[in-house]
Amino acid sequence: MKEKLTFYYGSMEGGKTTRIFQMLYVLEKNNQQVLVIKSAKDTKGDDSIVNRQKERRKVDILLQPGETLLSGENLEKIFNCTHIIVDEAQFLDSKQVEEIWQINKRMNIGVTCFGLRGNFKTDYFEGTARLFAMADEVKKIETNALCACGSEAVFNARLVDGEFTMEGEDIAIDGENSRVKYVPLCGECFHKKVYIRRRKNK
Ligand SMILES: [Zn+2]
Repeated sequence: MKEKLTFYYGSMEGGKTTRIFQMLYVLEKNNQQVLVIKSAKDTKGDDSIVNRQKERRKVDILLQPGETLLSGENLEKIFNCTHIIVDEAQFLDSKQVEEIWQINKRMNIGVTCFGLRGNFKTDYFEGTARLFAMADEVKKIETNALCACGSEAVFNARLVDGEFTMEGEDIAIDGENSRVKYVPLCGECFHKKVYIRRRKNK
């Protein structure tokens, strides 16, 4: 059987972590050796994935920006697994996504990536753009977060000191920086509350 590279994308608070824990449970129950990779750019939970029930799963590779998967200890871990799950895949760089694709195609190891679609500036994240282009299957997580108006959230808007903004550093992890928060918004609310105001402020 040909194993696939699959990318699940969604908004923040979109039940992504719940999906990962479910998947881990099913795979490990079926005696799969699952390798969990997370980008080190996500500092939440340190070297673990934590869900809302406070269950923890230590990641096997905490991937640093620019680090390769195709040598040394990382490659050894990959040789010993039968499935790979990547959390926070939006934070991978282009080359790392390409490596994951190579691993999937050369070694026929199934890879499932989970990540966000776009950032607070409405651009694709680097890893997401590459996964959209290279994954065999791209799927939207169906349990996406809702906007306050009740519609499905599309954007993760950034609040700094309580004000919506489309400016600033590309990555600011909430919780690490107490001034920064993210709010899931639908397209219409993003346009009204963030996009138009940004124009006025300029
Ligand atoms: Zn809305």
